[in-house]
Amino acid sequence: MENILEETKTLMKKYHIKANKSLGQNFLINSEVVKNIIESSNIVQEDMIIEIGPGLGTLTKYLLEKAGKVLCIELDSRMVNILEDRFSNDDKFEIINEDVLKVNLNKIIKENKEIGKIKNVKIVANLPYYITTPIIMKLLEEKLDIESITVMIQKEVADRLIEIPGGKNTGAITYTVYYYCESEKIMEVPNSSFIPEPEVTSEVIKMNLRKEPPVVLENTKVMFMLIKSAYMQRRKTLLNSLTNSKVFINKQEGAEILKKLNLNENVRPEELTIQDFANIAKIIVGGKK
Ligand code: SAM
Repeated sequence: MENILEETKTLMKKYHIKANKSLGQNFLINSEVVKNIIESSNIVQEDMIIEIGPGLGTLTKYLLEKAGKVLCIELDSRMVNILEDRFSNDDKFEIINEDVLKVNLNKIIKENKEIGKIKNVKIVANLPYYITTPIIMKLLEEKLDIESITVMIQKEVADRLIEIPGGKNTGAITYTVYYYCESEKIMEVPNSSFIPEPEVTSEVIKMNLRKEPPVVLENTKVMFMLIKSAYMQRRKTLLNSLTNSKVFINKQEGAEILKKLNLNENVRPEELTIQDFANIAKIIVGGKK
């Protein structure tokens, strides 16, 4: 792997690039980290990689060596010009100059799979941190036909995403990630691995999409609504949160439901497993029939 620091400096000088902080531009300059991201993504020729926020193309270059196709989505048109200069003579390279949150990924994936050369789609990215959560939620909730998501994000968020529900870093998003994926930590990344240095420590994580969900429900909407309501008032007990948000008709009904499920009246949302929330959802849906 070439000297990524030198290459980044040369590109920034050549194209007069000053990183745009409001777009979360922190360019990766650590070749060990690049190597790890590429290797842990397990890329083969039948794969299409969707790279979100390719920036100057540091990861893109190595993704193009491994994948059958690399589709980049980049908002900053200055980056798009650089990427086109660097890679547009490679048939495997395609770029969309758009906000990733506005792109119809399902349509793109379907069209590319229909052509026949692409068997699997994987997401690889050093994400813009100011929109980490909306991007991850989009990738999961749109139920994309993808195999894995390998991303660099801020460590604090990473720890919440890869936690097993009920563990100490559990947040509402932990349940969503757990429902859709089996996830793992790849590596922690120090601030000095970027130009400019971000204010937070980073982490690379990999989320492998599950073939079967960990809990079986006719409709997951109620369960996710319950989780959202429970975590809106995190410091309260589950009983109080779900009563205040009118999920339980009143405290007495709530207490009866918790008792039925062998849950303590004083239990806090972060102590619940996904199965616990699924069980409450089943009782609530059953009661409304
Ligand atoms: N991949 C490059 C690297 O590793 O050096 C750059 C990563 S940088 C952390 C994030 C990139 O996401 C920037 O290039 C930024 O312009 C781009 N970006 C920011 N907001 C975006 C959005 N809404 N949609 C697509 N790309 C975005």
